[in-house]
Amino acid sequence: LFRVENLRKEFGKGFFALDGITEEFHKGEVVVIIGPSGSGKSTFLRSLNLLEIPTEGKIYFEGVDITDSKVDINIHRQKMGMVFQHFNLFPHMTILKNLCIAPMKLQNKSKEEAEENAMKLLKRVGLEGRANDFPSQLSGGQKQRIAIVRSLAMNPDVMLFDEPTSALDPEMVGEVLELMKDLAKDGMTMVVVTHEMGFAKEVANRILFIDKGQVIEQNQPKEFFENPQNSRLKEFLSKIL
Ligand code: ATP
Ligand code: MG
Repeated sequence: LFRVENLRKEFGKGFFALDGITEEFHKGEVVVIIGPSGSGKSTFLRSLNLLEIPTEGKIYFEGVDITDSKVDINIHRQKMGMVFQHFNLFPHMTILKNLCIAPMKLQNKSKEEAEENAMKLLKRVGLEGRANDFPSQLSGGQKQRIAIVRSLAMNPDVMLFDEPTSALDPEMVGEVLELMKDLAKDGMTMVVVTHEMGFAKEVANRILFIDKGQVIEQNQPKEFFENPQNSRLKEFLSKIL
């Protein structure tokens, strides 16, 4: 689904936030990315949909080189859902409108069609009663679940998550992780930056450890946690587990 070749991103003279990443993400795969603060996790995720423009390297999405300046990235972005730490809902729109706006504007869905689909998604997360509320009336966990189903309303081929539970009160983390587990079970391709090691162990097909802009180690969860090889990964795990 994604092929990333020797990706580098320079911020200012000689500082590479990404320093030569080559990776593939396959359809249906759930990949978790972990690493220290400032190691380049967000920059990497944002590069996948070209929110960051790579300094060097190539990114192929569904076979298309999206780093080619002739490519209309907006068309491809519609196939990539992205969920951030802060929910980024449109505050002046109702929940229903939040879910309908992109399908109507970008996919030419009729209002009826968009609303019908939105109500299905709201039911899925048990929030159909909140359709006419505004984001400010919802809890953090509810807002994040809305942010996730708003991305799903575009019927994406992949979902990118950047620390989706980091800004939540602890008691709300579970409901968001449950929804993400659900998506994984349904076969959604997911790339997830998270500190939730329980989620990584249970749901990931593969975990990548990024440090200083490079993928230092990767493995399936069991091996990754039980038998880390790189000393920096060992040290990192000893701090967080
Ligand atoms: P965290 O766990 O704290 O979210 P991260 O792994 O997501 O960290 P990034 O946000 O990708 O790290 O940042 C990687 C490095 O690039 C950091 O040193 C950061 O200061 C730097 N950086 C990120 N964005 C910019 C920018 N727009 N301009 C300059 N430097 C940046
Ligand atoms: Mg980050």
